[in-house]
Amino acid sequence: MAAWATNVGNEVLITVLTESESAHGLEPLARGLVDRYRRAGQPRPLVLYTDRDCCTQDGPSKLVALFEGWEGMTVRLDIWHFMRRIAVGVTSESHPLYGMFMQRISGCIFEWDADDHRLLQQAKRAMLKDAGIASPSESAIRKAITRDELALHCRRRTRGTEATVTAIETLLLALADATDTLGVPLLTDEMTLIWAEQRRHVACLQDPPGVALYSVTGTLRKGGVQLPVLRCARGTTSLESFHLHLARFIPGTSANATNFQAFLLDGITRWNAQRSRDALDAPTPRLRTFDVQLQHTVNDLSRSLGLPPPFEHFRMPMAYTGEAIGIDYLFRQTGSSFPVDVNAAIDEGFEDLAEDEVTVVVQEADSTPVELPTEDDLDIKVRY
Ligand SMILES: [Zn+2]
Repeated sequence: MAAWATNVGNEVLITVLTESESAHGLEPLARGLVDRYRRAGQPRPLVLYTDRDCCTQDGPSKLVALFEGWEGMTVRLDIWHFMRRIAVGVTSESHPLYGMFMQRISGCIFEWDADDHRLLQQAKRAMLKDAGIASPSESAIRKAITRDELALHCRRRTRGTEATVTAIETLLLALADATDTLGVPLLTDEMTLIWAEQRRHVACLQDPPGVALYSVTGTLRKGGVQLPVLRCARGTTSLESFHLHLARFIPGTSANATNFQAFLLDGITRWNAQRSRDALDAPTPRLRTFDVQLQHTVNDLSRSLGLPPPFEHFRMPMAYTGEAIGIDYLFRQTGSSFPVDVNAAIDEGFEDLAEDEVTVVVQEADSTPVELPTEDDLDIKVRY
């Protein structure tokens, strides 16, 4: 059976499998999340980024109704997904003008913060001078700034609906007859239709006013200039990396339901532990393990000996809220159930592991894929 994976989160808050991507099927997910925020006394999210259903022809997104408990939340379309939709109108991604085209589209949507950019230029000028270039030109400074540096030290904001629509239309017009040296056009005839359809979504890309999308996580000194290190919360980029991670921690393309659920829960726990460590900008601990019980025990033992806890940022997991996760969600919708008691089967696996003599389990983030058992109670294929 094929299933859709729907993920919500920066840290992954919930992952469910559903038969289709319809909003109706996601109602229990939305209720569960709204309820979890309420119980934890957390303020409601202000903005939700999605890769689909950002608006309808005649009104707001279906997601607004789905998350009605989060009143006033804005739904926005992820800009990378919007750009991918536009890219469908390009002859081929290997066309020599493709890279330039995508860069220009991005330029139509975003502008850099002038103050952040000035500061980075100042740092780069000083670095070039230190490297022996007495008076670096403006273009030499521009070339010396890498894309990673721009993303790390400069805020971006959206230009506004009207400005972006005008800029994209001007760009499409300017490149309408652009070809490579063999005469292959950059844009296909489809582009007119694609743009006519995507034009209305430009409003769905705009940064919601009053929402701080950037946080400063630290500073870096370059060329004697103190530069902010920024983290951006815009879009679904972190979930795209999660999709990649998902494909790695579930080995192969099919697994039985119990194994899949076990891999999924374990993978999400590891992902979230790493994300929360990144968010705190905490140094990598000397001992590395994702085993919650082990971390708790080691911390307790250290405290009883009057030593500082080695897992300084360890937090006990919250109580289970009863929300259906992963395949459990799919089963509750389709009226089926796990062929075995899944929690017991997973616990059994951990008991087997605990029987081995393990002092400290040291695991790399990219652990070697485990080979799947051959008994396939249920064959599940996932499209990311
Ligand atoms: Zn839209």
